[in-house]
Amino acid sequence: MRRIAFVLVVFLGTGGCIHGQPATHSGYVPITISKLTDKLHIITVTGGREFNMPLYRTNLLASVGPDGILLVDAGFEATGPALRDTLKFLGNGQLKMVISTHYHGDHTSGNRFLSDQAPVLAQQNVLTCMSGNYFHLLGSPSPNRPTVGFDDSLIIHFNGEEIHVVHAPKCHSDGDAYLYFTASKVVAAGDLFFPDEIPYVDLPRNGTVSGYAAQIKRFMEIFPDDVTFVAAHGRSYNKKDLEQYHRMLTETVRLVQQAAAEGRTAEQMIEQNLLADWADWEGQFSNTTLAAWIQTVYAELSGITDTRPSICEPMTHTLIEGTVQDAMEEYRRLRATQPDAYDFGENQLNMLGYQLLGRRRLGDALEIFKLNVELYPASFNVYDSYGEALLAAGDTTRSIVNYGRSLELNPENTNAVEVLKRLRPSD
Ligand SMILES: [Zn+2]
Repeated sequence: MRRIAFVLVVFLGTGGCIHGQPATHSGYVPITISKLTDKLHIITVTGGREFNMPLYRTNLLASVGPDGILLVDAGFEATGPALRDTLKFLGNGQLKMVISTHYHGDHTSGNRFLSDQAPVLAQQNVLTCMSGNYFHLLGSPSPNRPTVGFDDSLIIHFNGEEIHVVHAPKCHSDGDAYLYFTASKVVAAGDLFFPDEIPYVDLPRNGTVSGYAAQIKRFMEIFPDDVTFVAAHGRSYNKKDLEQYHRMLTETVRLVQQAAAEGRTAEQMIEQNLLADWADWEGQFSNTTLAAWIQTVYAELSGITDTRPSICEPMTHTLIEGTVQDAMEEYRRLRATQPDAYDFGENQLNMLGYQLLGRRRLGDALEIFKLNVELYPASFNVYDSYGEALLAAGDTTRSIVNYGRSLELNPENTNAVEVLKRLRPSD
């Protein structure tokens, strides 16, 4: 059976990492707040560098009033401390509850800065996958893991209105939830749509294209006409916008289905620019491009997602009992003896490295990133990650070398450009 190699982008992992001083970047504003209604505020946090990506934004939503603050999503690790400080100045400054819309790191990496003040809630599958059951560091929960889980739905009375929290399974992932603020007529939709661009559907984490489109249709049916949908990335939508979005989804899926029925492969569809008429919807992330969308739809249609376990699974078992050297030995042994049994892709070790960084196991993380550079010397991304870990360890000289190598391999790597500018200001 053929397999499609997915570009599992690092920002979607559950790991965060140790950071430099992002505030030195010119024009970088980590947090902005805009008032949506009397009590609802959109808090936009700008991060992304921790996931080896250019700066990008996540919208959080806060209900602020006499009961205190209810916060939807917590953004990045890099913006966590600033978010914590910002919340102190909203209303009475009392954070009462945080709700994570799903597990992705650009929504949950700030949780660790808030969980000592308020419970963090999420759909149960989020707790499960962040408990260390998501192939990395089994038995070692993420510091950002929510503390309270729910199953299908929750009703919360807060700041004078009823808030419905509803699980939307098999859409973006298996643990997404949206919130409906009934009096405000506002939906906090998380990643259940990506305004004006192709969505990312997390197939490895049980997201589905068909479920994603069906949920959008449900949004159009169950809410009043004057509802506002707040997305985690990009502008807010009304029902008319959402209708167009739904049309884009169904039309593009239909085109891929048709081409697949004619026997065309995903690669051929990309080559032939099958979705040329939808070029305006090309997304800002590497997994929200038209090409990525073709691969995703095609993979779901053909049932050919890569179901091999990550090589990190056996490695993390070893890491809990033994040393990082033992785990690397395990990697080499399995790659030599069972090359088809595991996913050995470069993103696997990269994510493991970030998971270790997130747990402050800097020495182990360095070894893993270094191994990845040895294994994938043509990949700019692995040098960038290694450079970042070296910087976290205070080894500026070797960090510069690795960022430089990354930039040689990919002159478009704006992250490396920015970091090098910071590290070598005279350039
Ligand atoms: Zn997401």
